[in-house]
Amino acid sequence: MRKSKKMKSFLFIALILIFLFHNIFSLSFSDVLHEESTLEIHMINVGQSESFLIIQGNNTMLIDTGEIFYGKTIVKYLSDIGIDRIDYLVITHFHRDHAGSACRIINSLNVRNVIYMDPKYFTTVQEKFWYTNFQLTIALNNLLKIRHTKILSPYDENHSLRKFFVGEAKFEIIFLDEQNENVNDKSIVSKLSFRDFSILFMGDAELEVEKEMLDSKIDVSADILKVGHHGSSTSTSLKFLKAVNPEYALISCGVNNRYGHPHISVLKKLESQKIKILRTDLNGNVVIISDGKNVEVEKEK
Ligand SMILES: [Zn+2]
Repeated sequence: MRKSKKMKSFLFIALILIFLFHNIFSLSFSDVLHEESTLEIHMINVGQSESFLIIQGNNTMLIDTGEIFYGKTIVKYLSDIGIDRIDYLVITHFHRDHAGSACRIINSLNVRNVIYMDPKYFTTVQEKFWYTNFQLTIALNNLLKIRHTKILSPYDENHSLRKFFVGEAKFEIIFLDEQNENVNDKSIVSKLSFRDFSILFMGDAELEVEKEMLDSKIDVSADILKVGHHGSSTSTSLKFLKAVNPEYALISCGVNNRYGHPHISVLKKLESQKIKILRTDLNGNVVIISDGKNVEVEKEK
């Protein structure tokens, strides 16, 4: 009798242990975080830089990497939410506040694909510097061979702007003017759609790009606008804003930054259109969650 009781408690404890260990070790990325059925957009607080993490299903994307000194912040942010793999890294343009940490990111994480414009269009010292930095990191660590990281052009094999899926969410590059003399206007402009929900990522594109997009009748409408150029007065015309007609505007900018971003005129335009504004300088990290219809916002502050 005693023996069988002991045996029973032993089996009971063993079962609990097996259950616990199984759960600890089988926690995959999708278990730790996120519901398969939602899209997450994380505006990571990287001061006067930009970095957006997108998660859908079992796929991840990072749009821009922030200044070089924010690499650690981004890697920690990702690690805290259980992510060590980036399926697509998009570098909108090679200014240091967008591409500075690309070396750190590609070195620390398993980055599968990297998308950026053809380097033959780089004209400024800054673009060439950050691109060389990035290239050297890849070459010195032999990443293309070791991690099978692929470099993708923003164009597909049919010379059309690239589209692909991040989980069930469709990512489309909708505008790119690589030959523009203004580096900001060379930004990869993209739209991410998930069922009935969409977000427009402007990079640092300015008024000229907005006008060209409207003139070309590109569908810019979206539920969320990642405002161009950190809310600078050189972006976000009222006409463009009305065409996008978003519910929320995302602005990544540093506390009391020396550029005065976001500009009061942009904030006034957003307010006049009753658009809700989310800013990293005021709200810290911001997470947008959508089931494809409704939008939920989580703010750090
Ligand atoms: Zn920028």
